Amino acid sequence: MMNNSNLVEYQCQCCKQRKRSGYYIHHLYLCLSCEQLLISLEPEDPLYKEYVKLMTAARRRNSQPNTIPVN
Ligand SMILES: [Zn+2]
Repeated sequence: MMNNSNLVEYQCQCCKQRKRSGYYIHHLYLCLSCEQLLISLEPEDPLYKEYVKLMTAARRRNSQPNTIPVN
């Protein structure tokens, strides 16, 4: 799975679309457009808080480390 990571489509946890390129942030997969949206948001923005909630939930769900290198 790790070797094929460039060929695999992942489902973005925010927009639920399947994308080939994106980021893992705290085990939460974000596609490029959602990532762009996220970084354009102010921390006070309710939508930003929704992302943070999603990330926190994803981190809890995936308490076991998987194949994603962190930093
Ligand atoms: Zn997305």
